[in-house]
Amino acid sequence: MNKKAAIIGGSMAGLFAANFLQKINWSYTVHEMVPEPLSGRGAGIATYKELAELVKITTGFEDKLGTNCNERVVLDNKNNIVSKIKYPQIFTSWQYLYDILLSNINKKDYFLGDECIDIAKNNNETTIIFKNGKKIKADLVIIANGIRSNLKKLVDKNKPKFAGYVGWRGLVDESSLSRETLDLMSEYFCFVLPQNQQFLTYPVSGSGKDGLKIGKRRINWLWYKPITTRNYKDILKGKSGKNHSHGIPPNEIKDVFINHLKEEARIKLPKSVQELINKTEQILIQPIYDLKSDFMVKDNLITIGDCAFTARPHAGMGVTKAALDCFDLIKNLSDTSKYNLDDNLKKWENKRVKEGLFLVNRSREMGSYIKSNKSIIMPKNKKILKETAVSIKHIRNYPNNINLFKKFV
Ligand SMILES: Cc1cc2nc3c(=O)[nH]c(=O)nc-3n(C[C@H](O)[C@H](O)[C@H](O)COP(=O)(O)OP(=O)(O)OC[C@H]3O[C@@H](n4cnc5c(N)ncnc54)[C@H](O)[C@@H]3O)c2cc1C
Repeated sequence: MNKKAAIIGGSMAGLFAANFLQKINWSYTVHEMVPEPLSGRGAGIATYKELAELVKITTGFEDKLGTNCNERVVLDNKNNIVSKIKYPQIFTSWQYLYDILLSNINKKDYFLGDECIDIAKNNNETTIIFKNGKKIKADLVIIANGIRSNLKKLVDKNKPKFAGYVGWRGLVDESSLSRETLDLMSEYFCFVLPQNQQFLTYPVSGSGKDGLKIGKRRINWLWYKPITTRNYKDILKGKSGKNHSHGIPPNEIKDVFINHLKEEARIKLPKSVQELINKTEQILIQPIYDLKSDFMVKDNLITIGDCAFTARPHAGMGVTKAALDCFDLIKNLSDTSKYNLDDNLKKWENKRVKEGLFLVNRSREMGSYIKSNKSIIMPKNKKILKETAVSIKHIRNYPNNINLFKKFV
């Protein structure tokens, strides 16, 4: 009889898990706590050949995943290009990938409004319990419910760590930009590097069938800035008077903070970037955390994606890592001839923990200069250009690099 997995969390990691399990004829159900179809989370996702390959293996999707940039540049605060490297890359959007992954699985196995509150074990039976009263049984439980998981503790005791900085972010239609700014922002993956900070932009698709054409796309921007926990808590006090705990909806951010941001941009950032910020309809703020795991397996419970390891976004690797968690998982699950489930999962865990830890440590190093200590020495422009959001095959010392690419090329 087919084995059955229950997947908790219906975002990137959960959907990759479902798509991969489908390939080895496991039954599965996906349980997402949000009651309506997920949409518009985060904007741009840097991709690499390995992610395109994993999407193709699971879904058969072979078209381009998004927009191109061939070069990366650093701008000074007078809008001059002061460093440049060639690094052709495709940027997609969270929504675009979500739609591809969701459209390839059976809708009747994807449940919205299912918030998992507990997982109970009784003899050899595992029961997954939901807030809405539903209970199901499964042979394997895949916990893919992100960095704030309420279930990770059943497998591993690590908790998210605040990095000491936030990412302010936004999206602007290319069509709203001046010619000069459009030429710059639509051509390059752009960085500006004020002391102790990092600002970056890249083009992502716009809406509609022409969304990939220059002029119809959108520019995604991100500004990493150090912040004290106290100042962040002040920002979390919304316009309505509500104290938000981990993140604040953009319409709740008080104008005073947005005005401060624009004022700081006027002082530290070039004209093109000021234009971008000033023309952003909805500015978001995201605290940067990272998370690791000593364990990803406890009997038949496993964690994947951001729930297992969250690297800071400089690595640009979260979605690829989630896909690799699932790719390695099915390689081990389908190898039932030699091992039992416990052995297969342990083998999987051993490999995934090494890679997850490597990425978290690497992304910590990459973001280590974004802190409130003013005397910090900034990394060289070219180092940031060469290390940010690059393919695994360009990451020195990435564990299992050779094996990974033997499988893909
Ligand atoms: C600023 C920024 C930029 C980024 N840029 C990139 C990039 O360029 N490239 C890249 O690859 N990655 C990037 N990432 C990372 C990437 O977005 C994440 O790694 C990825 O989305 C993680 O997917 P996930 O499915 O593991 O977790 P999530 O997307 O967090 O999904 C978890 C899901 O579980 C659901 N859930 C939670 N609790 C329960 C419960 N109890 N029961 C049921 N459901 C539940 C949630 O509603 C959610 O839908 C970036 C991240 C940030 C913050």
